[in-house]
Amino acid sequence: MLKSTKKLNKIYLDYASATPMDVNVLKVLTKALKENFANASAIHDMAVKNKKVLDNARKDVARFFDAHSNEIFFTSGSTESNNIVIQNFKNIVTTNIEHASVLEPARLVNTTFVGVETDGIVDPKKIKKALTLETELVSVMCANNEIGTIQPIKEIVKEIRHFNKTNNTKILFHTDATQAVNYLDLNVERLGIDLMSFNAGKIYGPKGIGALYVRRRTPIKKIIFGGDQENGMRAGTENLPAILAFVEALKITEKIKDKEVKRLKKLQEYFIKKLKTLDKNIILNGDIENRLPNNINITIPKIPSDLLVIELSARGVMVSAKSACKSGDEKASHVIQAIRESEQGGSLLNKEVDGSIRFSMGRETTKQDIDYTLKSLSQILSKLKKWYT
Ligand code: PLP
Repeated sequence: MLKSTKKLNKIYLDYASATPMDVNVLKVLTKALKENFANASAIHDMAVKNKKVLDNARKDVARFFDAHSNEIFFTSGSTESNNIVIQNFKNIVTTNIEHASVLEPARLVNTTFVGVETDGIVDPKKIKKALTLETELVSVMCANNEIGTIQPIKEIVKEIRHFNKTNNTKILFHTDATQAVNYLDLNVERLGIDLMSFNAGKIYGPKGIGALYVRRRTPIKKIIFGGDQENGMRAGTENLPAILAFVEALKITEKIKDKEVKRLKKLQEYFIKKLKTLDKNIILNGDIENRLPNNINITIPKIPSDLLVIELSARGVMVSAKSACKSGDEKASHVIQAIRESEQGGSLLNKEVDGSIRFSMGRETTKQDIDYTLKSLSQILSKLKKWYT
């Protein structure tokens, strides 16, 4: 493991935004940048060799998800994978807590946004209720990037299949698995997934590389035009060094997954227990059981999220208030808004959902890090309470 965040003398609790690169992944990437630079689409010897390397990498990625290699398409990441999927359909059912790369393109077509429950989990029966004879696609993320809630994918697929059988429809199921690869079993056969987005940047690999799984005979058209790369699905020279690093990152993830899940679960339980004693007003956002083992998302009423993030950062603790790509805007988190709305049965003002922060742990997180974070949070709360109560 690359001890990057420790070397920086920071406590990094923002792994859901970005993971540091594993040292072995970095080795693979560096070697490949030197040796595998030739364009895999050319016809000379070095290119042909790289084409073989690329084909093998695709096979490796497919194996992790019990897919076939011709069902894997490399992209620039989950944003692109999600866009390819969503832009292919005109009538969609999704949830109101998806990542912006699903929500934004979905808003351009006829989409039903099913609200999640107060625990941040969507009810499969509500998905079923939203299906019509015109529905073409259901897109529900495996695990939420802000509150870590794990969605009942198998049950949702069951409802879709039942609807398809009864109504002779062919509704497909897509999942954004970006946050799930580190921790969950993502066997596309067992889960009945037709389309799946994931990336390397969240699994200790490089950013800017990801993939889309497309089940055989699923009618998906390209959205980026140019060369014939990726079997005509996605134009642009393949980033082979990054792809090889992606494969290495997947291999490591697979190897240490079970152990990491257990270790992080213990840390998560400890963190939550201590948070409860810190301040009785702290609210834990999202279901406590069906949740990624690295995620803790809390609301401290009346204290602006950004202020908490900045105060923690000043003490060397790196956290986020919401999805990193939305951190700059003024609006409250759409995910926290969604769970509070379902709690209160209506829309809320920004200030009512303020005070939420996400701690996302990872491979380098230790109990000492959590203790220091809790101590810092306690200091911040006693400082800010004077102003906000
Ligand atoms: N989907 C989810 C759930 C995410 O957490 C992210 C990144 O934070 C994305 C999609 C976008 O991924 P990328 O940065 O690879 O485009």
